[in-house]
Amino acid sequence: MSTLSEIPWESLRAQARQATSKSYAPYSNVTVGAAGLTSDGRSVEGANVENASYGLTLCAECSLVSDLVRQGGGRLLAVSIVAGDGQPIAPCGRCRQLLFEHGGNELLVDAGERTPARRLGELLPGAFGPDELGTRKNS
Ligand SMILES: [Zn+2]
Repeated sequence: MSTLSEIPWESLRAQARQATSKSYAPYSNVTVGAAGLTSDGRSVEGANVENASYGLTLCAECSLVSDLVRQGGGRLLAVSIVAGDGQPIAPCGRCRQLLFEHGGNELLVDAGERTPARRLGELLPGAFGPDELGTRKNS
């Protein structure tokens, strides 16, 4: 488990802020960047990618998880999510589930300087995850 003080939040937020410039958000004009730190010290990042169909839009956290998998996977320790307008922004329900798969309950989630980082287990209590699969069968 990582403590809040062990995470280099300022550099993580700066990387997330930089990632907003890679966003594709022609419909909402809300650019979002995310940056994460893995348990083996790598960094991953993502930006939101909107789509004309709206429903197919990919959030920055989704893009970050894709970057993690593209790099060979691993566990996320901390993630910072930053909106281009500087306002705090929370991960949507789908992204909480995506982050849980790769960081679990202990993942630290930061939504900018104005709000304290929180454990994912607090943001997604009672989550369904990989442990729920493969061990169940009808009696
Ligand atoms: Zn999302």
